[in-house]
Amino acid sequence: MPHDLPKAYDPTAIEDHWATYWVRENLFAQPTPVTPTTPVQNQSLDHESAGLSAFVVLLPPPNVTGYLHMGHMLEHTEIDILVRWRRMLGRKVLWVPGTDHAGISTQMLVERQLVTEGTSRQKLGREAFVERTWEWRRHYGGAILEQMKRLGVSVDWSREYFTMDEHLSLAVREAFVRLYHQGLIYRGAYIVNWCPGCQTAVSDLEVVHQEQKGHLWEIRYPVLGVNGKDSGEFLTVATTRPETMLGDTAVAIHPEDERYLHLHGKKLRLPLQTRESPREIPIVLDEWVSREFGTGAVKVTPAHDPNDFALGERHHLPAINVMDERAHINAEGGAYAGLDRYVARKHIVHDLEEQGLLAAVKDYTNNVGHCERCKSVIEPRLSTQWFIAVNKQPNTGGASMAKLAIAAVMPGANGPDANGDKAIRITPEMHEKVYLEWMTNLHDWCISRQLWWGHRIPAWHCAACHKITVPEPNTKADPTACAHCGSDKITQETDVLDTWFSSGLLPVSIFGWPNINAEKLADAALSRADFDAFYPTSLLVTGFDILFFWVARMIMFGCWFSRDVPMRDGSPRPLAESVPYREVYIHALVRDANREKMSKTKGNVVNPIEIVKQYGTDAVRFTLASMASPGTDIAFNVARTEGYRAFANKIWNAARFMFMNVDRAAEARIHVEVGSITRPTERMNEWPTEELWILSRLNRVVHDVNLAFEKYRFDDAANFVYQFFWGEFCDWYLEFAKLGLDFDDPTKQESTGAALSTMLYVFESSLRLLSPFMPFITEELWHAAYNNSPPAKSIALTRFPTHAKYDQFAQVTLDSAEIAMQILQQSITGIRSRRKELGVEEKSLVKAKIAGTLNAPPILRKHSHIIEKLSRVSELEVVYFSDRNTGGKYEMLAWQSAGPVDIFVEYERTVDVAAERERLTRDVAKFEKVIASSDRQLNNSGFLAKAPAHIVEGLKKQRDEAKRLLDKARGDLDGLPEG
Ligand SMILES: [Zn+2]
Ligand SMILES: [Zn+2]
Repeated sequence: MPHDLPKAYDPTAIEDHWATYWVRENLFAQPTPVTPTTPVQNQSLDHESAGLSAFVVLLPPPNVTGYLHMGHMLEHTEIDILVRWRRMLGRKVLWVPGTDHAGISTQMLVERQLVTEGTSRQKLGREAFVERTWEWRRHYGGAILEQMKRLGVSVDWSREYFTMDEHLSLAVREAFVRLYHQGLIYRGAYIVNWCPGCQTAVSDLEVVHQEQKGHLWEIRYPVLGVNGKDSGEFLTVATTRPETMLGDTAVAIHPEDERYLHLHGKKLRLPLQTRESPREIPIVLDEWVSREFGTGAVKVTPAHDPNDFALGERHHLPAINVMDERAHINAEGGAYAGLDRYVARKHIVHDLEEQGLLAAVKDYTNNVGHCERCKSVIEPRLSTQWFIAVNKQPNTGGASMAKLAIAAVMPGANGPDANGDKAIRITPEMHEKVYLEWMTNLHDWCISRQLWWGHRIPAWHCAACHKITVPEPNTKADPTACAHCGSDKITQETDVLDTWFSSGLLPVSIFGWPNINAEKLADAALSRADFDAFYPTSLLVTGFDILFFWVARMIMFGCWFSRDVPMRDGSPRPLAESVPYREVYIHALVRDANREKMSKTKGNVVNPIEIVKQYGTDAVRFTLASMASPGTDIAFNVARTEGYRAFANKIWNAARFMFMNVDRAAEARIHVEVGSITRPTERMNEWPTEELWILSRLNRVVHDVNLAFEKYRFDDAANFVYQFFWGEFCDWYLEFAKLGLDFDDPTKQESTGAALSTMLYVFESSLRLLSPFMPFITEELWHAAYNNSPPAKSIALTRFPTHAKYDQFAQVTLDSAEIAMQILQQSITGIRSRRKELGVEEKSLVKAKIAGTLNAPPILRKHSHIIEKLSRVSELEVVYFSDRNTGGKYEMLAWQSAGPVDIFVEYERTVDVAAERERLTRDVAKFEKVIASSDRQLNNSGFLAKAPAHIVEGLKKQRDEAKRLLDKARGDLDGLPEG
């Protein structure tokens, strides 16, 4: 047998097979183009000469420590659909995969592993620890990439990168060095979000704020008299963190606060034992202080609060850092040194109370920042960090980094291109506003992290003159002596760079920027060719959560550094060509079936790998696509996946049905084509109605699906294909067409061959249409359709169906077929539902009449054998409306309207009136009960407030359905004859 498909659809077997095949055959690799030295004319097949640049997508790199979650699955499904679709439209496509070294997460993981071995990072020392982390990465890193392979993502595996690869690390170093020498990187004391758990600074974006019940302590600070002794007067301040008092260097009041006018110019005594106690602190006047809040006097701790830090700068106050990296009190804390911050708090409150300086303790709920990674309470803390001055003009002149990144999404600003269009389009558009707002209020970017795993900052400190040496741009060697005093006592900075520093560079660095360290010229040419062909990338698909982390930083860095690379013709690179991508599509969140956010604590996390095992990748991909529309979160429901698994089954069975018939045709020596129609086009009006109709429907769905993809309406595209394949191809077309197959009658063999060819043509086109959504089953069936000698290595390398323009004659023929088909469909469904109403048994035949106007009767007559077969009619009479015969001996039965036609079904049945009455009476009671109980719940406001929306929706539906059935049962009861 040529078509040897297993009887049952088993996704696991076929998916494993094809996933391996795609990777092994390197099907989606996009090699570096060979740039011709002189322009070649008449290259009609060349994509670029056709005005199409490559379609390039960068995979948002998952953490090397990561495993696939539902959000990835959605993201990868959406990207893969778009990428497969563009590839099938004939674009040169490149999708680059890779992983991020994820500084904090990876270091934490390895540290935890060390603890179980009874050792620690500190005991190992930096070098051994980093080596150990590399080893970890070799063993466990990239598990997520293996999972992606199984999901069939069509990436170029030959270009897989890791953010700490040598060439990417060189790009990181060069980016730092250039920014430093442009005067945009500085080192300074700053309040950072300090995580005592991770023992590093973390970004604002890595801090999660949670409401927490705490206290507000009101503390009395003794006012000093002219003699420097306590005057007996007190100034009361309120604080939620009494331990920070140890670092107080002032108390601030509003200059016009009438309560405190007499205290202007006075000093206070800090009532705690610190290193240099007693500490006298000034009362400073500042308009920032709110007179309404608390007592109107606030303590000022410049080293432990960002507002106080700013206030301290204004008033030239010293900043005293009182905590170490574990948030224990340091030597500045005097009597409290060595205590954990919360233990110190207890002691301090106790001591103040003893001195009679605790005025009050009030309950207070405030917003406390926690570390996203380890959940520790964040301690704002003064520390020395490295920053990028994002709003500063570089010493080489021109706009600041933030300005460029703003211009990139503004229409016309700085003239990204002649049309005044935006260099980057963000979809959904609302995110564009959010981006601009964030970018406009951007603070300097703290890029240093106190970790060991990551890119170590390329700056050297001099022990002799204490100045910093940063290598010159375009150099590879580390400095051996101080650039300022020549001393050789220099040591490299111990901090590493923020992970987002390296991932922000990816769009430029993966294509070869900065291209300085290619020792062989050949390498330099190669990386330049990649850059020319693939930068800017076309599209970034990612989640809202990393809009600022990653998207914004890529835009800043992309615009900044790509300008160093002139265009291929040597002209300077304009902003429109400097951006890292031309479009950003922000996808939605995947929530659980009740629209709740998935979380480990709630226990409602859906593991995509488990679902894939159960239903197959194709069904899961289709589920996500069918629910994905811009700006709408997805309520993931396994019931839908079950439905799409049934859809895959339907496709499989349709294929088996067709292949079986093709095999029969082969035995009867009937010629069948795969992938083309054999009927003569000049006699199109003689083709069977169902063939014309399905071709017309196919053309329509092809048009709609392409349009939906353009607009990121994955949901529409999926639903169009689904409706077409199941509702039209399987339910109608195949049912019609199979009645015309005849393998034995020699006069019908030619038309049977033609019918099968059209069938295979539409099926093969549907497979290509479905392929971006369901790459596995379509690959399997496509190879089978061609008896395993297909015209290409993969369906993914064939063309996506595009909308055909027919000539006028053909279009009229197709339109008439659509009208005819509608009449036939409605007649058949009309008779079927009437049969049901009458309680006709499935296998019984009935007599029927159909009445219509105009061209309906001839159409119906021509297809009467089909109508008879598909609605189980023994004798069909077709009449014009005017000849309709009502009444007669079947009084209970009447003509029914079915769209453009009326139908009349004759069915003789002896009715046991008493039994029927009893049954209907029972039904009426049953439906009344359902309605009453639904109404009770639907009128209960308490229930409505608590019940999830889908429950309420379901209840309403149930009630409506019961009402419909009730009305019908009552009607039937009334219609029963007396007796
Ligand atoms: Zn932490
Ligand atoms: Zn020096």
